[in-house]
Amino acid sequence: MQVAKVALLNTSKEYDILFSYLIPDSLAGDVLKGTHVFVPFGRGNRKIAGIIFEIADSSEEGLGKLKEISDIVPDMPAFPEEMIELATWMQKRYLCTYSDAIKCILPAKTNIKTNRTVKLSISADEARELVEGNKLRSINQIKVLQMLLEQGELEASEIINNSSVNMGMITGLAKKGLVEFGTVEVMRDPFSEKIYEETVSLEPVGEQNEIINKIIERLDEHRFCEMLLHGVTGSGKTEVYMQTIGRCIGLGRNAILLVPEISLTPQMITSFKGRFGENVAVLHSRLSVGERYDQWRAIREGRVQIVLGARSAVFAPMDNIGIIIIDEEQESTYKSESKPRYHAEEIARYRCAHHGAVLLKGSATPSVVSYYNAVDGDAVLLTMNKRINQKAMPPVRIVNMIEEIKAGNRSSFSRELIDLLIKNKEAGKQSLIFLNRRGHSRTVMCRDCGYTVKCPDCGIAMTYHSAGDRLICHYCGFTVRSIDECPICKSVYIGKFGTGTQKIEEEIKELLPGFSFIRMDADTTSGKDAHEKILNKFKDEKIDIIIGTQMIAKGHDFADVTLVGILNADGMLNIDAYNAFEKGFQLITQAAGRAGRSETQGQVIVQAFDTENFCVQRACEHDYVGFYESEIEFRKAMRYPPFTHMGVVALA
Ligand code: ADP
Ligand code: ZN
Ligand code: ZN
Repeated sequence: MQVAKVALLNTSKEYDILFSYLIPDSLAGDVLKGTHVFVPFGRGNRKIAGIIFEIADSSEEGLGKLKEISDIVPDMPAFPEEMIELATWMQKRYLCTYSDAIKCILPAKTNIKTNRTVKLSISADEARELVEGNKLRSINQIKVLQMLLEQGELEASEIINNSSVNMGMITGLAKKGLVEFGTVEVMRDPFSEKIYEETVSLEPVGEQNEIINKIIERLDEHRFCEMLLHGVTGSGKTEVYMQTIGRCIGLGRNAILLVPEISLTPQMITSFKGRFGENVAVLHSRLSVGERYDQWRAIREGRVQIVLGARSAVFAPMDNIGIIIIDEEQESTYKSESKPRYHAEEIARYRCAHHGAVLLKGSATPSVVSYYNAVDGDAVLLTMNKRINQKAMPPVRIVNMIEEIKAGNRSSFSRELIDLLIKNKEAGKQSLIFLNRRGHSRTVMCRDCGYTVKCPDCGIAMTYHSAGDRLICHYCGFTVRSIDECPICKSVYIGKFGTGTQKIEEEIKELLPGFSFIRMDADTTSGKDAHEKILNKFKDEKIDIIIGTQMIAKGHDFADVTLVGILNADGMLNIDAYNAFEKGFQLITQAAGRAGRSETQGQVIVQAFDTENFCVQRACEHDYVGFYESEIEFRKAMRYPPFTHMGVVALA
């Protein structure tokens, strides 16, 4: 007899080990590694489901005490070997249960959708005789037989939609034994109604050519390789992705492309569906459970070679992966916020290593850790410095808000920005106002000199706690009483910042009467397709100003936006995290990148209190490498990642 080691589903942490069961002779041939089984568990021998992770020979002692597997779970395809290894690794790495890991990998199982079909249950000759003879008295029943004779098996709905026949008439024929019903599986395809214009590969230009070749070379080697593509916005990264994926599928291998949140990037879907058509499956959180399951089955059954999706698409049930691409690799949405708290990049690396595949990460503003690994570690750095068509990056001007206050302007808008907003409206163009309201309302900053209270040991902004009126460092616990006066310039205009998008709306009403505007932030985008609706409204109704948080900074192509205003740029650097500068730099760069995407040259105004800040300055110069070089020194001095590992321990 053999012994199966089973990972149980739906168990708590205390039972999260592999349990041994005997494989009874009756199931011997059907039970393999990866088989879903029912096993008796506990004193009451409750029947619970699990997956066999290992099979061992039964030479061990104490076999007599083992229980037997009760049954096989019907209709469940085997859990692949690769996924058994992955789930085992996840259980250790993310301190989750086998069950949590398995649920991440397998989608919720739902019913397969089927439609009714009708076919003849008599021979064609017999049917023809009936149609031509005098036996059938209903013209509609004759029509049905004719259709089936001409077209073979049909879906009942096809017959009903294309004739005056109704279901009762078909059932009548079935009762006479002339036709019979069957079923056909249908795919719930969320994209079936949409038509995508076919596109062909573009002739690679400039740096693109070299980069594509370098990636393809690695792809051909069939060995694990990690690459980082640092390409400025508009340098044509998408085309690089599409051409390397084209090569990958040409080699008969499969590809996964991860994007931060697919509902925000309909452009990417259009590009991929246009280039690769039916060969692309799309997985993301806004699909219905049924749609998701059908896409997943299309992947598992090998009907598609390319998967495009958000974080969880990294688990796509594909064999023989040639490349996994992570676009906008710095995004925090690649880390799961719920159990198991996995990082899609790590899963991608694990899978690429397993398949001897290329892991390609792309970004205009890579995470500091990724860039470090590419210049100082094992990853290969690929750089694209120029925009396609040599289009210039938009010029950025920094406005000192302290000067504004000195001149008596205490609004959130500098005089220069107000002037430009008016001129832009007169020119018939649109503007974008960006502010990040997360976090900074809880740090203390001087309105007159830009000074922020930071922890002397950790170098991060301290967080205000109204209880006890204290400032606390969220890293080391160092605390001081909050201050009413700036220690640098003695100003009393020192305070907690709380300028949100709503407040900005009020100010616009007051300062710019007659302007139309629309707001996009977490509060206005909760519904399904809310993002797209707001963006379409902004475009179609030629709204003067769109105001928003980081949501509008990312990915969107606003053709008519020629002016971008970034409010309180240094405020967004004062969040209580070691990577605050990195996140701030990325946001400023991304927001600035929204200006002048089309023919007209755009411009950007960055408002800050501390205009000397290296992070604000490098972002305004579009100088990622300059930023990186300063930031990596800070990380080294403070012993932050990549020089150490950091984790959060939450006490439940
Ligand atoms: P990124 O993703 O790096 O910001 P995109 O992929 O959006 O840049 O490319 C910017 C623009 O350049 C797009 O409109 C794209 O169609 C165009 N483009 C990319 N590669 C080429 C090429 N080889 N020839 C012509 N146009 C290109
Ligand atoms: Zn001050
Ligand atoms: Zn500290």
